[in-house]
Amino acid sequence: MLIPCPWCGDREDVEFKYGGAAQITYPQDPDTIDDATWARYIFFRPNPKGRMAERWVHSAGCRRWFTLIRDTVTHEITPSADPGGQ
Ligand SMILES: [Zn+2]
Repeated sequence: MLIPCPWCGDREDVEFKYGGAAQITYPQDPDTIDDATWARYIFFRPNPKGRMAERWVHSAGCRRWFTLIRDTVTHEITPSADPGGQ
C-alpha cells in the first residue's frame, strides 16, 4: 500500500507509523472533568465503516506528522486538505 506523504510523495506503508484518529480534541478544562469524561477522551475512538481522518508519521522518512483520509473498507487514501492539522 502506498501512502502519500505531503512532503515526500508516495512511499510504501512500511515507512509510516499509524497515529490514530485525527480530530480528537484535548479537553478544554481538564481540571474540572470527571473520570468518565477522561475515559471517553483516552479510550473511545471512532470506528467508522468508510472514510476516516487519521494521523500518520513518516517515521522512516521526513519524520513529519500529517493527516490523511482513509476509507476503512477499501483502504483508498485521499490527502487531507489540511495535512498538518489534527
Ligand atoms: Zn515524508
